[in-house]
Amino acid sequence: MQIQNYINGKFADPIAGHWLDNIEPATGKAYGKLPASDAQDVDAAVSAAKAAFPAWSRTPVEERSRILDRIADLLERDLETFARAESIDTGKPIALARSLDIPRAVANFRFFAGAVQFTHSESHVTDRPAKALNYTLRQPIGVVGCISPWNLPLYLFSWKVAPALATGNCAVAKPSELSPMTASMLCKLASEAGLPPGALNVVHGLGAHAGAAIVAHPDVKAITFTGGTKTGAAIAAVAGPKFKHMALELGGKNPTIIFADADFDDAVSTSVRAAFSNQGEICLCGSRIFVEQSLHDRFTDAFVARTKELKQGDPLDESTQQGALISRDHMKKVTDAIAFAQSEGGAILTGGKRATISGRCADGFFVEPTVITGLDASCRTCQDEIFGPVVTITPFANEDDAIAQANSVRYGLSASVWTRDLGRAHRVAENIEAGTVWINCWLLRDLRVPFGGVKDSGLGREGGEEALRFFTEPKNVCVRIQ
Ligand code: NAD
Repeated sequence: MQIQNYINGKFADPIAGHWLDNIEPATGKAYGKLPASDAQDVDAAVSAAKAAFPAWSRTPVEERSRILDRIADLLERDLETFARAESIDTGKPIALARSLDIPRAVANFRFFAGAVQFTHSESHVTDRPAKALNYTLRQPIGVVGCISPWNLPLYLFSWKVAPALATGNCAVAKPSELSPMTASMLCKLASEAGLPPGALNVVHGLGAHAGAAIVAHPDVKAITFTGGTKTGAAIAAVAGPKFKHMALELGGKNPTIIFADADFDDAVSTSVRAAFSNQGEICLCGSRIFVEQSLHDRFTDAFVARTKELKQGDPLDESTQQGALISRDHMKKVTDAIAFAQSEGGAILTGGKRATISGRCADGFFVEPTVITGLDASCRTCQDEIFGPVVTITPFANEDDAIAQANSVRYGLSASVWTRDLGRAHRVAENIEAGTVWINCWLLRDLRVPFGGVKDSGLGREGGEEALRFFTEPKNVCVRIQ
């Protein structure tokens, strides 16, 4: 299965003729190739996007919206094919791809197709020194670069591309080299839906080559990036001095805080889901669990028991709940982190090693869901993002202690707080350093709300009005009234 770049509405081989292997994480074997694109391919994609921009940006919003809606319809029609492809490409359970990844990609296109029709802009009446009416035009930026990671491939790719196109920009997008399949399949649907050539261009390849070329290209005026904090810093160092618009959605080390008065069963089952969904490879996963001292032992026992029930296996098996990690390198990073946790004094209550799955997945990149206790919140295991099926459970003494421990990391993406005390829930939410706080729930997403992180979890916000604003340049027009 050879994936190609999609430039100016056509599929094309990489100009220099270099290719990468596409590995199926569940088997550890290559099952296709993808372009190892470089600056030449990016240049071609940017030229196509630039040429398409005048017509696409002037296309009436209803027409742009109709095309995006049609992409959503086609994706819904092909949901099963996309879910299977996403599962094979990433190692995630097919049930998850079918219930979360692809439906959310459909929702992203549908949501922005609608949202862009109901935007408004400000106007200000001035009476001194002269009478005037100021109004704000929100104009598309031009060519925008959309760079996305491997953990939720089509979900995050469409989260960027849909608002970019809805607002009249033309996109040069790069999915992760580890999960290129569904973005490539989407290009076919974009053509079928009537998206004009050049409005969306997809260039595959390594971050250091294709990704860096998008960021550095002088005609790419905005960069929306989701990925690791270190990569985000490298991108900011290049894009910052060029004054490009930037939205950086980066890493996380999110706390789940459980007070003794929480609904016990709900807190246990949701925090297990928050810890291990998608093998812990979701930026919003709750990887640091803090439990009020009096509940700590009971909670830990129940949490471990639930974790042991998770069914790990072939991602294409309908009943699988834990699939494979994305790559051999990532599996090593996760198992090294577990070994380091033990060297720091952590006790492994369940899991702790590579999982062996029989049959076709015998060489796959599986790691057992792992629960660690006995570590202080300040140690490296509790401070660094592992991005795998690994959680720590740590006791806290009181509300202030919970907040202090939760805030003790460099990250600030999300948090989940469990209590029946309404006042406390609001106080903790106010004092947690994070872009999103869930109270008595996790991953309950509304596409209208602002999404992003504080501290080393990023810069800027996506979602709803924030995304529509990010992809447009405000211009004030001042009309003097005689
Ligand atoms: P990554 O930073 O390695 O790669 C992300 C993307 O950036 C890929 O497409 C990659 O090819 C590209 N890239 C790499 N180096 C680049 C460079 N120098 N210039 C331009 N592009 C470059 O991240 P990853 O390993 O794919 O994803 C995992 C990380 O993503 C985790 O840290 C996770 O927390 C984070 N993440 C954050 C969010 C969020 O919304 N905050 C969501 C999902 C994942």
